[in-house]
Amino acid sequence: MVESNQERVSDTLCTISVRTLSGVGPKLAEKLEQLHIFNLQDLIFHLPLRYQDQTRLVPIAQARLGQDVMLQGEIIRSQVAFGRKRSLVCHIRDNSGIMTLRFFHFSNAQKHSLQPGASIRCFGEIRPGRNGVEMFHPEYQLVRDSDDIALEDRLTPVYPTTDGLHQLRLRKLVTQALSFMDSKYSLSEWIPESIRKPLRYPSLVDAIHYLHHPPVDARTDELKEGLHPCQQRLAFEELLSHRLCLRRIRWQNSQLAAPDLESDNPLQQAFINQLPFALTSAQTRVCDEIARDMNQPLPMLRLLQGDVGSGKTVVAALAALQAAGSGYQAAIMAPTEILAEQHYRNFSQWLSPLGIQISWLSGKIKGRQRKASMESIADGSAIIAVGTHALFQDDVRFKQLGLIIIDEQHRFGVHQRLALREKGNNGQTLPHQLVMTATPIPRTLAMSAYADLECSIIDELPPGRTPVNTVVIDNNRRDEVIQRISQACQSGSQAYWVCTLIEESESLQCQAAEATWQAMQEQLPNLRIGLVHGRMKAAEKSDVMDAFKQGQLDLLVATTVIEVGVDVPNASLMIIENPERLGLAQLHQLRGRVGRGAKASHCLLLYQAPLSNLGKQRLGIMRDSNDGFFIAEQDLQIRGPGQVLGTQQTGLMSFRIADLSRDAALLDPVKTVAEQIETEYPAHISPLIERWLGVRENYASV
Ligand code: ADP
Ligand code: MG
Repeated sequence: MVESNQERVSDTLCTISVRTLSGVGPKLAEKLEQLHIFNLQDLIFHLPLRYQDQTRLVPIAQARLGQDVMLQGEIIRSQVAFGRKRSLVCHIRDNSGIMTLRFFHFSNAQKHSLQPGASIRCFGEIRPGRNGVEMFHPEYQLVRDSDDIALEDRLTPVYPTTDGLHQLRLRKLVTQALSFMDSKYSLSEWIPESIRKPLRYPSLVDAIHYLHHPPVDARTDELKEGLHPCQQRLAFEELLSHRLCLRRIRWQNSQLAAPDLESDNPLQQAFINQLPFALTSAQTRVCDEIARDMNQPLPMLRLLQGDVGSGKTVVAALAALQAAGSGYQAAIMAPTEILAEQHYRNFSQWLSPLGIQISWLSGKIKGRQRKASMESIADGSAIIAVGTHALFQDDVRFKQLGLIIIDEQHRFGVHQRLALREKGNNGQTLPHQLVMTATPIPRTLAMSAYADLECSIIDELPPGRTPVNTVVIDNNRRDEVIQRISQACQSGSQAYWVCTLIEESESLQCQAAEATWQAMQEQLPNLRIGLVHGRMKAAEKSDVMDAFKQGQLDLLVATTVIEVGVDVPNASLMIIENPERLGLAQLHQLRGRVGRGAKASHCLLLYQAPLSNLGKQRLGIMRDSNDGFFIAEQDLQIRGPGQVLGTQQTGLMSFRIADLSRDAALLDPVKTVAEQIETEYPAHISPLIERWLGVRENYASV
């Protein structure tokens, strides 16, 4: 109880930039930014992916296949071997046996230093070798007789990192941040012991120390899966904070009024009459749900879920027209330039004939054009504003915003959603909000992840679609696949080739796409081939997309930037390289780019052998089903816990530490504890929200 009366002290770690650490200049800070690390709190929440045991030397005879071990021995032979790939091979001996070390990258100096007679301590993975097992490309140091190199006394953390940021460097930075946490700056405990105890959770500070430097006897199996009480404690706090934030938003919402927008108005009717198709019954149903919400003086907060291609855009347009009909503006925000521009085009094409002015705002709109857009939004001459996150920047003002539509929700954080909402907050009324997502979220999770939203589901595709036929193909049949592209394009179809890479690194992904693009041009000289990736300028990207859309390109080589929303009905073939590296939800999104027209469409999943059993199972699900909800449920079931990329892979709302598929079991206790905190420790709510969702005022303060 003492804790709830405690004066609220803000944490300070999150206010201290990483630049205050010794050795961090602008360059390193930029690398850290790529890992979303900006301040000291981010660093201490940057948890290891796994651990190495460098606390003991393993006798060579006891080193087992698949283990990471530290060995020490005398080099008895050292030679360069010429196999398929040149390698340096050393044999080392201790008093239990002999081990082969194999290096693929080595300098001359290294070669000379690794001579018979020298003693070496090495750490690495034991893999199958040409004759028995060998240690593959170990980290090592030479040991002189006089040396007595100390062993680590804790497990060594291995952190997620990025190109050009060395593990050792990152390790040192985290250590520095931890010592700041212990000395200068505070990291307060907001989950009281009375709550933690029955859950068997350690304190926050203990959990953090433990996870960065676990003791030798730590349960590494639990750590690996993310199920250790220390990890669970952090995931729990994060989920709890999100829930508290969503409940606060919901509560705030219920305190404010919203414009009462007339449903079934003449603009909506005119729009429906001019559509070249009839709405599906699912579309009609969700339109009614939305219309009813907006026809009440309470702010709507509704999530619209619908599989790719289910026709959410039309629903959005109808909602926007409901605002327009009552003299209010609507804003439509999409996460990428490509997608926003596509909405802009669709809306212009549909709504301009009805006399509705639409303005367009994105990061690439600059200067006079930007000024004009902003003016038309501010004076109300633009009824509908379409754009990217540029729409919620500080200097954008709306005359009378009645509805906000956000497409592809999971790409935006709660922050951005709220920042945009604030645009329509005039102290008395808030705009209505419609959030659209194509990521099918299993219902149980949706309830918890979007505690603040009502849910509408489009569970039916427009008629006349032929399901995409999906085939799983070994990459060694690449030539056949390329032939297939050639045939498809010669018969007037268009195709996508999607490059993926396992690394988080966007630049590597772009390089891969560029290389593929070049190779395709050589192999398919008769085709017009375009390239689009995340590193291109926005204008270049949209030029290429335009050309593809207009049929001036046959084949589009792309990175996963095309994942969301792009609509080119004439494209009926998609090749996805290394599909085993993507989450099923993401694959389903990508595949949704084809099968949009009347033609039978195909998706070829070009995997790299050998596939793990799990990999086979997952691609099998893609082959057998076109139903996004089914796929999402399956993915959740078969993806073992502890997938590192968790939320990114499923495309669910992104958390820093929690993973909804792994931590689904936490959602119930989170719910209970959230209520307990609200009644017994209300002073803890804001600091928790600040810690996990940032420090922006509009949702941290009531
Ligand atoms: P998504 O839900 O993935 O955003 P879109 O809104 O882009 O889907 O719609 C996909 C395609 O289906 C578009 O070309 C759209 O014009 C078309 N479409 C939408 N609703 C219908 C319908 N009821 N009947 C036929 N085609 C439709
Ligand atoms: Mg869409």
